[in-house]
Amino acid sequence: MMKYCWEIEQCGREPGGKNTAKAGVCPVAIDALARDRYLEIAEVMIAVINTEGTVVYMNRKGCKILGYERDELINSRFDLLIPEDIRGKMHTVFQKIIHGEMKPPEYHENELVGKDGDIHLISFHNSIIRNIDGSIAGILFSGEDITDRRISENKLAESEKQLNIVVESAIDAIVMIDSMGNIALWNKAAEKMFGYSAKEIIGKSILDVMIPAKYRQNVAKGLSEFGKTGRGKFIGEITEAAAMRKNGSLFPVELSISAINLENKWHAIAIIRDITERKTFEKVIRNSERKFRLVSEKSSAAVYIVQNNLFKYVNPAFESMFGYDASEVIDKLSPFDLVIYKDHALLKKNMLDLLSGKVSQTQYDIRGLRKDGTVINLKVFTTITQRKGRSEIISTIIDVTEQKNKELRLQQEKDNVKKIASQFKQLTYIDGLTGIYNRRMLDETLSSEWKRAKRNRTPLSFVMIDIDLFKGYNDGYGHLAGDRCLVKIAKAIKDSLFRPSDCAARYGGEEFGVILPDTKLNGALMIANRIRINVQNLRIPYNCSPILKWVTISLGVAHVVPDNDLHPNDLIRAADLALYKAKNSGRNKVAVFEENIS
Ligand code: GH3
Ligand code: MG
Ligand code: MG
Repeated sequence: MMKYCWEIEQCGREPGGKNTAKAGVCPVAIDALARDRYLEIAEVMIAVINTEGTVVYMNRKGCKILGYERDELINSRFDLLIPEDIRGKMHTVFQKIIHGEMKPPEYHENELVGKDGDIHLISFHNSIIRNIDGSIAGILFSGEDITDRRISENKLAESEKQLNIVVESAIDAIVMIDSMGNIALWNKAAEKMFGYSAKEIIGKSILDVMIPAKYRQNVAKGLSEFGKTGRGKFIGEITEAAAMRKNGSLFPVELSISAINLENKWHAIAIIRDITERKTFEKVIRNSERKFRLVSEKSSAAVYIVQNNLFKYVNPAFESMFGYDASEVIDKLSPFDLVIYKDHALLKKNMLDLLSGKVSQTQYDIRGLRKDGTVINLKVFTTITQRKGRSEIISTIIDVTEQKNKELRLQQEKDNVKKIASQFKQLTYIDGLTGIYNRRMLDETLSSEWKRAKRNRTPLSFVMIDIDLFKGYNDGYGHLAGDRCLVKIAKAIKDSLFRPSDCAARYGGEEFGVILPDTKLNGALMIANRIRINVQNLRIPYNCSPILKWVTISLGVAHVVPDNDLHPNDLIRAADLALYKAKNSGRNKVAVFEENIS
């Protein structure tokens, strides 16, 4: 460019040394320049203005940038290309340069207005064109349109600013180090986290300020490897590490380190998060977990934890309760595998109640299934917790089979006692020798039947029976034979009665009583005779009896419709009287008490 300027200076002089270029630079010289392909093909604006401020040359690129035809620009005032707001100022500077009062700046940026009014930011390099006598003929500009570049530079600066805001406002410490491990970026969070200000730490090695002494050697090794390759153990990973504060205290951090290559050198950007709180929380969880395990391992109750319907933990008591090893259960079986099929619905309901949040704990009885197939009765206490975003069911189980068995045995025992009691009670109403009811039963039955007959105004008959000449029988056959005879006769009496309400009992010694509820006299007589015949038909030998050769009985029948004036004993007495009558009339007879009982 200077070469051309020189030539211009050469061309600007007329022979004789007189400056003829009144209106600026010699047109011939400009023409020569214009014709010069070098100027025309230059990818920068090249313009020449004379001392009057008139454009005397503008190359093709200049025309293109400003959007004018060359003819429109040549001989027009350069001022008009300058935005109005700076036109005055520019004019002053231009005047100073033209008058040699000021050297033109080697480089400056100025705006020019294009034909369509667009503002173009031009970076100018200026040269002065002199006449042969050294006086100033004009100024040659070479200019480059840097509007677009500036826009993108501004954009870059803007995004840098924004990035800065992001970095500075980040909660995590953001630290950049160069390949030597020297700190190049240190954001506000880092200042807060480590206690160093950016000012005091930038340029220092992380080894000295952030890394605890015992890790320094390893980190230094890693750094030298990183400096060469951009690779390292922690690059691209999220890792946990110990970091050191300005005051020397250590704290746990989570690191995420990325490698970037800046100007052919590896840098690392670390995003550092203080995880002290998280660690403390994890420790608390671990402690409580340890406590939980400690307690549950020693517990005699079975304890299990279920996630996603699979056992995740079972304690030793669980293993012995169900007969499985923990390894056979954990991650393999679900609670449904250890419950009898009939109780699946019950288990499902309880699980759903917990998982749906309907309840936070439940308690239910269920029948468990051991590995050997035996069924055990269980009482389950279940609660639900959330851990790491998952629902976890924790249950404690007590085997109540023994208790159930005990309850069952107790129930059986109670039933037995009841049975025995009722048998015992029966025994007290049964005659020990003959097996038919005794006098007590006879009295009670007579009493209740009496009341009923009275209520219903129904007849009630009673038969008193006595073995004939039994003293003689005993004497002849012995007391034991007498007893056997009593048993046979008792049975015969009982078997002669068909109605369930009829009641035969041993009244005492060799006497029997028969109660015949709702039975009129005729019926009672008939039954009494039936009894007499049946006994006779037993044909119990009684050789020396004056009556028959067999044992016989005499019967007295009494009959009444009870009323308030009478007592059951009156009926017995009446039957007794009738019996007496039967005895007196020759025995093996039935006699009736015919008078009114009163
Ligand atoms: P009667 O025909 O007048 O009734 O004459 P009897 O001998 O039966 O009269 P009594 O009332 O004098 O005798 C009753 C006898 O019955 C007395 C006793 O030897 C006998 N006796 C009473 N109870 C029992 C008993 O439980 N076992 C036996 N083997 N004999 C009994
Ligand atoms: Mg008697
Ligand atoms: Mg007798």
